[in-house]
Amino acid sequence: MNQITLNITNVSAVDMTSVYTYLIHTDNEYTNQIVVGQSLPEGVDFVCFKSSERAGKTIVIDKDVKALQDIVDVIQTAKNTDAYDVAMHGCPIACDADMTELYTLATFVANTLRIACPQILMISDMGMVGAAGMAGLALNAGGTDCRTTMILLNSQVSFTEQCKSLIHEMRHAWQHEKHQIRFYGKDNEKYRYWTDYPEDKKQAYYLQKAEIDAEAFAWRVMKDTFGADYTGTKHYDEVNRKLKLEMLQMPRLDLLA
Ligand SMILES: [Zn+2]
Repeated sequence: MNQITLNITNVSAVDMTSVYTYLIHTDNEYTNQIVVGQSLPEGVDFVCFKSSERAGKTIVIDKDVKALQDIVDVIQTAKNTDAYDVAMHGCPIACDADMTELYTLATFVANTLRIACPQILMISDMGMVGAAGMAGLALNAGGTDCRTTMILLNSQVSFTEQCKSLIHEMRHAWQHEKHQIRFYGKDNEKYRYWTDYPEDKKQAYYLQKAEIDAEAFAWRVMKDTFGADYTGTKHYDEVNRKLKLEMLQMPRLDLLA
């Protein structure tokens, strides 16, 4: 068993809030990365792999393991198992990532926004899943299901950037789950992706309703929770102006208070 291909773009929506809460409270020192909903070979419930230097593992769980208790049981078994040698084709996971603080933040955001917490995966080469410089990327369930199932974070950017990106992407998850029509339209017809805009029209991408709301929310939380001020940091003045206006209209939100 050394050729496993992860299918991270097609992960069904699983609420990870309870799984993360469990992990935060049971993993000593080092919280492992968890990926559920994968197509593993017949009869295999999980595989795990790890980096050579660090203690962390990435535990990949089969799609047939769905119930929270079953997921928790599999994680428990996997944590006590020696890591397999698994070839990760086309999926540059940063398997030495300690997820403790990101999972803590994610559960706070999920509980605050009352949404199902998506999976979080640390990626060492965003170029293979989007664009190299991207801090984060949200993946949706696909088909008619627009819910966010997984958030990819760039392991190469600073921890603060990862936090802001996580909050931004989880706000997109909230938009899809609670206000799909307002922000995206029934079939996402109101929204266009970064790559849809030509190089000289990128400002219009940031000015979209969904992007302004997501980034303003991230600014709000980063300021109130961590004291980080992002006002004026965007490349376009018009974007900065709109973001500040939107942020000031949002209620203060200290997640750790
Ligand atoms: Zn966005």
